[in-house]
Parts: sequence; structure tokens; C-alpha cells
Amino acid sequence: MSDRVPVGVLGATGMVGETLLRMLAEHPGFRVAEVGASERSAGSRLRDLIDPSALAPDVADLEVKSLDSDWSSPVILSALPASVARTVEPELAGRGHLVVSNASAFRADPGVPLVIPEVNPDHLALVDHQSDRWSGGIVTNPNCVIAGLALAFAPLHRTFGIERASVSTYQAISGAGRPGPAAFDLVDNVIPWIGGEEPKIGAEPRKILGTLGPDGLVDATFPVDATAVRVPVLHGHLAAVSVELAGAPGADDVRHAFESFRGQVADLDLPTAPTPPLAVLDGNDRPQPRLDRDRGAGMTVTVGRIRPGEAFHVSFVVLSHNLVRGAAGAALLNAELCRAQGRVPGVPA
Ligand code: NAP
Repeated sequence: MSDRVPVGVLGATGMVGETLLRMLAEHPGFRVAEVGASERSAGSRLRDLIDPSALAPDVADLEVKSLDSDWSSPVILSALPASVARTVEPELAGRGHLVVSNASAFRADPGVPLVIPEVNPDHLALVDHQSDRWSGGIVTNPNCVIAGLALAFAPLHRTFGIERASVSTYQAISGAGRPGPAAFDLVDNVIPWIGGEEPKIGAEPRKILGTLGPDGLVDATFPVDATAVRVPVLHGHLAAVSVELAGAPGADDVRHAFESFRGQVADLDLPTAPTPPLAVLDGNDRPQPRLDRDRGAGMTVTVGRIRPGEAFHVSFVVLSHNLVRGAAGAALLNAELCRAQGRVPGVPA
């Protein structure tokens, strides 16, 4: 990646947008050329709205644009609320931009790839068939808790075949964006439901682990029972997972599958890809959000407590940084893969 391709960041003043700007500050392949947010922020300098200390000085001085502005960057990284993304992202794709989105608006669309580069880079080929809808394209990354979960599911599904799963997630406050739940509800408490989250915990891994054939994408079929809980942790989503696997492998076989997983883009040298993508931790008290969420600059997913079960073959715990692996880093890695595959408009691979 020699020349730095200009990117626009939408939702730049939010939790995910700010993380994206920090990750892009010294990125070798992309540079932030323009930023957008709501009418509340439009016209202000970025430095007056978010902490400028982690930003390149020229980025901190950028004026926030309103979303109906003209955009010049070939790549638009979107960290908009889904309700806004539903209208804005297709408009931008229609104007020839490659939109790489964190929002849920198009994740379930069968013509839009939902990609974790280490797991299903081939699904980006769906963009080739978007030309009847847009001159550009839309690529999405999964929900913040799925990014870690689907990465852990991948070696199990590919090696053995997942037959069914039960997942309970313990999700950090920053996963709700700003302003998030009221402090009075969070302190000294857990909230046993996160609106809209549980259906995604089954559907998104099934799409990511699906097979792309000549007639389109065929989702995987394993059922998942999910419970999503909000806990008073700042960053880092933990998931307690039990799986039934074809062939009834033991806990040691499952551990080996995790440890030997390298992902499908290991040879591409993508700047944001950690090596390896999964880290297996020993010790019954790991992984923990405070100790393990920043591993691999927040991109490494940690797995621990791998053990045989009574009702399911194997149980384990997965942790991922929701703002990095689960959002900003996920989008950035997708953008890097798009560039490596020659999918950025006007930019050779
Ligand atoms: P957030 O902190 O609430 O930030 C939202 C951003 O969108 C802000 O920049 C905000 O601008 C802008 N915005 C809000 N309403 C707008 C409107 N009507 N028009 C234009 N811009 C508008 O949210 P977030 O947590 O960063 O999440 C951003 C997206 O990523 C969401 O779709 C979310 O579901 C997804 N996501 C979040 C996480 C996570 O861990 N937080 C993980 C994965 C995916 P102002 O500052 O001007 O209001």
C-alpha cells in the first residue's frame, strides 16, 4: 500500500467514529480527508467536538460536514446510526463511493457482504453483483459482539461443523454508543436484555459462515439460543458459549482448532490484521475485559475456559474489544481487504 487513499468518516464524532480516526492517524494505506456527523456538529472543527490528542493535526482541524454535502473520497467509512445509514449509505454508493459500514442497516441484505476478513473474504465478491443497484458498493462488518463470536465459531464450523449453540453475552457500556444507558441504571446492576441484539447473535454468524455459490449466498443453518446482558464495563464484550459439534470432538480438539486458526488473509499483510487473530488463554479467570481487551491493539480475540460440558459437547468464553475488533477495526480491516482485492473505485490493487 504505497499511496494513502483518501477516506471520509461518517459519524466521526461518535464512539466508533472517534476510534476510527485514532486508528487512521498513522495508517499506511488510508488518510482521513473529510468527516461528517449530524447537523448538531456540522460546521464545527473536529478538535472542538472530540479529544484531539490522538488525531493527526490536519485531521483535528477538519470542519465537520453535513451528510448532504458532496464527498470526494473513494472510500466512505460509515459509523452512523442504522436509521440514518439506511438512507445515506445507498445514496453514497449510488454516487460511486465504496461504503464500508458499521451500521446494521444492510447487514442482512443478501446482496451485501457481511465480512470478517479472516473468515469470509470471498463474500466480498457480492459487491460485483451490486452494479445493478449502485455504481459504487456497500460492505458491512458484524455487530460488535458477533465480530469476536463469529471469529471463534469459524475454526469450529470449518473443522467440525456447528450443530447448535447457546450464547450468553456480557456487553460493555460503550457498545450502546453515546450517551448510552443512564448511569443510575448501570451502577450496581446488570440489565438482562439489550434491545434488538439477540436475533443478530444467531443470524449474523450464519450469514458470515455461509457459502457463496453461483446462485448467491447460502447461510449456515445451526440454531443459536442467545441472551444479551448489559454489564457495567467500559469496553470489551464477553460471551459464554456452549456448542454441539459434529463428530463430538473433545475439549482438546476444540482448543487445537482455535490455536491453529490463522485466518484466510494471513498472507496479505493487512496493516490492521493481528497475528494470530485468536489467542487461547490458560487460567480459569481469563479472559477478562480489563486485562485482555487491548491484546493485539484491540484486534485479537481471546478465548478461554475451554471445557467439556454435560448438555453440549464443549463450552468456552470469548472476549473482544467492541469498539476496535467489533467496530472501527472491523471496518478498517474490511477497507484494507477491499483495497488489496482492487475493489476501491479508481485505485489499483
Ligand atoms: P454514537 O456514539 O451514538 O455516534 C453516532 C454518530 O452518528 C455521531 O457522530 C453522530 O453525530 C452521528 N449521527 C447521529 N445522528 C445523526 C443524524 N441524524 N445525521 C447524521 N449523523 C448522525 O454511536 P456509535 O456507538 O459510534 O455507533 C455508530 C454505529 O456503529 C451504529 O450504527 C452502531 O450500531 C454501530 N456499532 C457500534 C458499536 C459500538 O461498540 N459502539 C459496535 C459495532 C457497531 P453527532 O455527534 O453530531 O450527534
